[in-house]
Amino acid sequence: MIATMGLFSGDGAGVLARLLKKYGAKITGGLHLKMPDSIADEKVLKRPLEKNMELVRRAEEKIDKAVLGIKNGKISKDGIGFWCHMTGLFGQRLYFGRKAERYSDKVKIDGEKCVGCGKCAGLCPMKNISLKHRLAFAGDTCTMCYRCVNTCPAKAITLLGKRVIEQGTIEKYLPGKG
Ligand code: SF4
Ligand code: SF4
Repeated sequence: MIATMGLFSGDGAGVLARLLKKYGAKITGGLHLKMPDSIADEKVLKRPLEKNMELVRRAEEKIDKAVLGIKNGKISKDGIGFWCHMTGLFGQRLYFGRKAERYSDKVKIDGEKCVGCGKCAGLCPMKNISLKHRLAFAGDTCTMCYRCVNTCPAKAITLLGKRVIEQGTIEKYLPGKG
């Protein structure tokens, strides 16, 4: 299981591992990767481009190391042990789990800015955005993934903040693309 994180991920890989186990998956290891934060409309979470590129570079190094470990029979266990479960529960989910639920209907789309391209609707994994008369509208099933906010060409979508500070997709942080 691989989980990405911004500031902290107690047992991000463990949460998904436990869920998939219920469906019969056999989980052998976990990996946590610190990545550029996806929350595009909160200034306090933004890092300089160089810092984000460095995070991505380090993540790639960690992946290479994990692959080498697998080849040598030593599998990374980030996030999937008992203590990670406790850290994730007390350091994150008991507080943020409920808080995130309260944002399921909080995506805001500025009708003045929206150009009706439909990109957000196509990208939303929850099918939470639909187009009516070439304008986007959001429903109440948002899981705060921030894909729509980061990719809207008109910067018309916000969630936690009031305006889009900086959009970021992975391509931006790869060498030669920044
Ligand atoms: S991506 Fe932006 S501009 Fe395009 S439909 Fe969605 S809100 Fe409108
Ligand atoms: S933040 Fe993610 S889940 Fe929420 S509306 Fe946008 S794309 Fe959909």
